[in-house]
Amino acid sequence: MRGQLDWQPRTDEPARFPLNPAPTPLLPAAALGEALGGPALWIKRDDLIPFGLGGNKVRGLELILADAIEEGADTLVTGAGPLSNHVRATAAAAAHTGLRMVAVYWGSAPRRLEGNHYLTALLGAEIRFTNDADRTSVDRALEQEGARIRAAGGHPYLIPRGGACPLGVIGHVHAVAETLVQCRQNGILPDCVVMAVGSGATLAGWLLGSRLYGASWRVEGITVSRPAAEVRAQIHRLATAAAERLGSRCQIDDDDLIVHDGFIGAGYGIPSAAGDAALELAARCEGLVLDPTYTAKALAGYRELLAIGRFKGCGTVLFIHSGGLPSVFVQRGGEP
Ligand SMILES: *Cc1c(COP(=O)(O)O)cnc(C)c1O
Repeated sequence: MRGQLDWQPRTDEPARFPLNPAPTPLLPAAALGEALGGPALWIKRDDLIPFGLGGNKVRGLELILADAIEEGADTLVTGAGPLSNHVRATAAAAAHTGLRMVAVYWGSAPRRLEGNHYLTALLGAEIRFTNDADRTSVDRALEQEGARIRAAGGHPYLIPRGGACPLGVIGHVHAVAETLVQCRQNGILPDCVVMAVGSGATLAGWLLGSRLYGASWRVEGITVSRPAAEVRAQIHRLATAAAERLGSRCQIDDDDLIVHDGFIGAGYGIPSAAGDAALELAARCEGLVLDPTYTAKALAGYRELLAIGRFKGCGTVLFIHSGGLPSVFVQRGGEP
């Protein structure tokens, strides 16, 4: 990883439908950095993307939505768990552009309509449950919904679970370019970028963008959903496919693909004690609200890895606040 903004995308770079008037703020978090006893800490505030309650998923949706519109689609179809930020942001994108939206959730309908599930309903999505706790049940149901819409004369556009597709990844390649400019403006050069990992699309984009733009930092992910080995393989596939889509043969080296296990707690979407402690620390040091599903667990991971010397020698660390705030308001201890 070397050079500075030394890569120019091809002119047939995939189109973006503007949802995010970038850049999102890049802000110092001196008190939190100090409380953690580590390097200077800066935070990229993708939680503050103004569209549809924000979050990292909006970046990918700019490209996905442009593709759907170009294809002449009339219905977006996507899915994940009921607390999914991706599904909520997609429902907002559909509402914004006058498309229909079908949301497929794994499992069965929870007793309470809250958090992103509530918002997705509010945004006008048709909601289906697979009644199967297996997450891959969503993948089959998406195909079935697509077939049903086509049979009725509609034109569905299927977005994979969690938005993990090459176009989604490219949204985060753009985030790297945006952040490099901001770092230069602020006179900082982070040695390391830390973020939460779910499907892996965001980390894939950051790794690819960092290679393409010649960023010198190391990018590290904390997995909050799948075992690291599984998500690493997925990130490799996604990054390669996204590079191809950009006309590049860039591959991510295994040594650069860093995902840490150990911070999921009892499971995806279930708050952990370490995550809650990190949530409280960020709130009280900075007035900064993280989310319990992704960013709090990522900060907990950063905190523990820092304690065992993982970031020794780093002068500045950049933490990505990827959003997820609707989950802060989900009642604890209920069904997921
Ligand atoms: C989806 C999500 C992530 C993880 O992004 P992936 O691309 O799925 O790895 C992190 N934070 C929040 C708030 C998210 O919604």
